Amino acid sequence: MTIETPFFIPDASRGFRFSRQGELLWLESLALAEQGDVVHAFCTRRGGVSAGPFHSLNFSVSVGDDAVCVERNRKIVSAAFGIPAAHFVTLRQVHGDDIAVIEGGTLGNPPKRSCDGLLSVESGSVLCIKTADCVPVLLADTRRRGIGAVHAGWKGTARGIAGKAVRLMTARFGTRPADIIAVIGPAIGRCCYEVDEPVRQEMRDVPGWREMCVPSVREGRWMCDLPGANRRQLAAAGVPEEHIHDAGLCTACHREVFFSHRGEGEPTGRQLNFIMRR
Ligand SMILES: [Zn+2]
Repeated sequence: MTIETPFFIPDASRGFRFSRQGELLWLESLALAEQGDVVHAFCTRRGGVSAGPFHSLNFSVSVGDDAVCVERNRKIVSAAFGIPAAHFVTLRQVHGDDIAVIEGGTLGNPPKRSCDGLLSVESGSVLCIKTADCVPVLLADTRRRGIGAVHAGWKGTARGIAGKAVRLMTARFGTRPADIIAVIGPAIGRCCYEVDEPVRQEMRDVPGWREMCVPSVREGRWMCDLPGANRRQLAAAGVPEEHIHDAGLCTACHREVFFSHRGEGEPTGRQLNFIMRR
């Protein structure tokens, strides 16, 4: 069921919609939803069973939440989307740029767990990225079967992980970048993401990096546009601008709906973002 008038979608024409099932609330990209064999969601923090700072749909076991609650949250999402819980492939995300490829029947069991991106051409593997401010990017080849999911905080962005994922899809699956739909989910926006000069300097390989950061009210600090940086990297890797969709939702501005590392401090939870090819 789609919510009639989501109260905080800044611009309904951006190509996203909220859907819900009971208390579970998630964001969808219309462009991905139009791909008949792709299932995806940018989950919010709503609809789970975790308590306190993890209230309620936390997907990380490494932030201090009760593992039993995280497992129940996984089962809630599994049931809502009709996908076996064992098919959800989660990673130990390490803010690097390593990307694992699931192929050859390794469903639910990638060759490498400590990495920040997952690609697949398999049916049924649910590529999961957990975030609380970092940028989740979901990728789908509209002609072939490749899909991808990327975790891009400032370190991953500085290393260009989104563009790397596009190039890897081409190398491994024969994907043409022009056929990719790339969707940037809820992440901390330039409104709330202040960085210091050393972090800004780390971004200098990002196309147009000087425009990416604007001076903060605090001297020597910058307000950094991580979603925008990922958009530029995807475009530089050959994804057409009109195929790149950014939810434009700041996690720190909307803490009633999203976990936010900056907005709430630790401990806080991690929301799930996922994509699967049927
Ligand atoms: Zn904000």
